[in-house]
Formats: sequence, structure tokens, C-alpha cells
Amino acid sequence: MTMKRILLAAACLLVLLPASGARRPDKMKTAGMRHLDASFHLYDSLQHRIWYFAETGYNEYQSSETWIKFLEDNGFRIQKGVAGIPTAFIATYGEGAPVIGMMAEYDAIKGMSQDTVPYRKPLIEGMSGHACGHNLLGMGSVAGAVAVSKWLAEGHPGSIRLFGCPAEEGGGGKAYMMREGCFDGVDAMLDWHPDTRNTVNTQTGLANVQVKFTFHGKASHASGAPDQGRSALDAVEAFDFMINLMREHIPQTSRIHYVITQGGKAPNVVPETAQVLYYFRSPSREVVRELLDRALKAAEGACLGTGTTFDYELMSGNYERLQNTVMADLVFENLQKVGGVRYDARELAFAAEMMKNSGLTETVPARAPVVVPPADEGYEAYVSSDVGNVTWGVPTGSFRYCCFVPGGSGHCWQQVASGGMTIGTKGALNAARVLYLCAYDLLTQPELLGRVRAEFDARRGPDFRFEPLMGDRKPPFDYSR
Ligand SMILES: [Zn+2]
Repeated sequence: MTMKRILLAAACLLVLLPASGARRPDKMKTAGMRHLDASFHLYDSLQHRIWYFAETGYNEYQSSETWIKFLEDNGFRIQKGVAGIPTAFIATYGEGAPVIGMMAEYDAIKGMSQDTVPYRKPLIEGMSGHACGHNLLGMGSVAGAVAVSKWLAEGHPGSIRLFGCPAEEGGGGKAYMMREGCFDGVDAMLDWHPDTRNTVNTQTGLANVQVKFTFHGKASHASGAPDQGRSALDAVEAFDFMINLMREHIPQTSRIHYVITQGGKAPNVVPETAQVLYYFRSPSREVVRELLDRALKAAEGACLGTGTTFDYELMSGNYERLQNTVMADLVFENLQKVGGVRYDARELAFAAEMMKNSGLTETVPARAPVVVPPADEGYEAYVSSDVGNVTWGVPTGSFRYCCFVPGGSGHCWQQVASGGMTIGTKGALNAARVLYLCAYDLLTQPELLGRVRAEFDARRGPDFRFEPLMGDRKPPFDYSR
């Protein structure tokens, strides 16, 4: 009798507990995917609105308001003006752990006006353009976050947090948000960027600082009283010359570039003030610090030789990326599930015309439908991003998705044009699908999140402290005006 009862109890237990081989729901058919599949026109019009605003770093008032309103309408709780930045915000949906983060950017680039046509339009003075596709970056991340909220709304535990991140193009918005603790409490971050191909980021990229050097001399009549003057432009030239000699004696993987942003107004007036803007980059932020120290010595030398003085402004600074292979594998798996972009006949004709006008012989954007396996880990991606700072605070998975017709080499009119039409929307919505699927996996598999964290802790080390490369200064709110 007792034995019978035990067997009965065991049978009941088997019915109550899901068998270990129980089928999980098909994540491609879950609520978030259904939302994205049904919302092409909605997101197409939203991304185009941001494209049209084309606001530069720290001036993205209409763009951030557009996303805030949309997220509020979708039930997100909003914190505005975080980190003391008027156009930064945090939007949260759901309750408690785990917390998955996504980041939206929405700043445009000065002087990059262009219409959504497959040929170059004449530049319009004073107009900016989305030459890095941040209209799409923001839309893809917002759509991904809203998709997750649709799934959470069914009663699943966890939270999705969308970070509105201003001024990626040189303003280092995320560095300031990181310094102020905006990303604290996030278990995993999902990051993406529009591109001309579909692949996972496995490279550390370059740490960098952006520094403005201002030299001060003494004005005088350049011909009538040259002996009375001390040229600030001479100091800039002497400084640049020394930096160019220095290039031979720095680690080969470093990058230094500059533009003279102020050099006087007229040749017959000795320039009183001159200014030069520099980027120093390296796969290691320690090397970046050394390069800057050496440059400051060169600036002192230039002043000694020209009878001038100088000051400098460290405007923004970014860490190299801390990679996480568990996150990278997860992103690659879901990238393959979503697959590449398919264009319709109208988009193919647009792409063919643009590529012809860009001098390319490829007939159609052959890269769009292909998912490229991740490259080996390294630093060979010679670019920097303020995302680098975030990767040291939160384990981050990152990918690039095809949203542009190949043509230029980045920050180009082709990206403004193709990113502002449906070619861009299709790419960004597929990116949203990848983001959603990754978040779904992280929210439903605690063991996966555990492995992500373990790798992050091991790589970052126990004694890590985030020391912002730009120190304790305020964000450079007027840098892009
Ligand atoms: Zn960008």
C-alpha cells in the first residue's frame, strides 16, 4: 500500500514538473517578435523624424523628446536629464532583476546635409546630417526595448532599461553617464551600430581623448610692427611640427590627428589667438594618457620658442572596449537566426544607382544578406566609441548591422541618404530583432547570465575602478555648435 502511494506521488510530481526536455516556446514567435513584425511603418516614420531633425551632440532636444514620448506611451518610466545632461534619459519597463540594458544614440554630424536620393546633393550651409546613422541606432534600440516590454507585459519577471545617450560624435555622452553611475544595476548591455555588413564586434577598438589646445600671443601690425607681436599661429605650427616628429617614436598602433580650428583672420595681423583640436588614440588607455603627457610638453616647448602661452581642454575620453565572449557568442547566434537584409526591387534600384554614382563596380549591395562570422579578438578596428566606457561597467554584447548601401568609407553622404529611407529602416528593425532575441535569452536563462558575469569579473579584475579619462569636468555642451 505504501509503495503504491509513493508511486502515485511520483506520478503526480511528474505531471506537475516540466520534463527536463520540455519544449521551450519558439522565441521567434514570442510577443516581442510579433510586435516588430507588425510595426514597420511605425518605426519607419519614427526613424525618419529623427533623420529630419538631424540635431548635433548635446542639442538633440527634439530627438530625445520624440523617443521619451514614444517610450512613455508604451508604459516606460522615464528619468529625464540624467547625469546633468538635458538630452540624456533612462526609460525602464518591468520590475526587478535581471535588468537588461540597450542604448540609443540620436546625434547627427555637422556639415553633412544630404537628401534621401542616390546622388550627391550640394551641401546646404549650416545643415547637419545623420552620416553615422544614429537615427537608426536610436530607433533599433528603442524598438528592441519596446519589443522586450511587450513580452514582459505577459507577466514575465525582469526589466528592460533603455538609455538615451547624447553626443556620441565627439561629445562622449556615455563617458559622463558612466561617471555619474547611470549604468549601475544593469546585468547585461546590448549594443549595436548601423554598418554596411552584419557581424559581431569582437575587437577592443581604440581608447581616445579629444583635446583642444588654445595658444595665446600678442597682436600687432604684421608689417608695420612685427617685432611687437607674438604669433599664436606660430605656436600652433611649432606644436604640430613637434607632434609630427613624435609620431616616429610612439607605439605603431597609436593614432594622432588634428585640425586647426582657429588660425587668425588676416595675414596682416599677427594672430593673438590660435586653436588646434587633437585626437589621441591607442588600443590601451594608458598609452593614450602617455601620448597626452608628451603632447603637453611639446605645447610648453612651442610656447617657449614663440613667446606665447597655452591652455587646453580635455573634452572627452573613451576607454577601449572590454570584450565578453559569452555575450559575443549569444549575439552571433541570434544574428544568424535573424539573418541578413532582403531588399525589394525599388531599394535594389536605389542601391545600384548610388553605387554607380559612388564609382563602385559591385552591382547590388551583396553584403546585406550575409552574416559575417566574428573576427578574432584584437584591436584592429581602428575606431573609438564612448560605448568603450560602458563595457567596463556592464558586460556588453555588440554587433553591426547592414543599414547603408556601400559607397563611402563612413560618415559620408551615402549613409545619410540610404539611412534615411527604407533600406535603413529594414536594417534597424532587424537589429531590433537581434536585440530582442538576445534580451529574451538573457531574461529566461539565469545560467547564461551567470556565465556572462563570471567572464566579466575575470577580465575586469577585482581592483577595477572607473577613472574617467576627462576627469571631473562638465560635459562640453557647446562643442558641436
Ligand atoms: Zn556612430
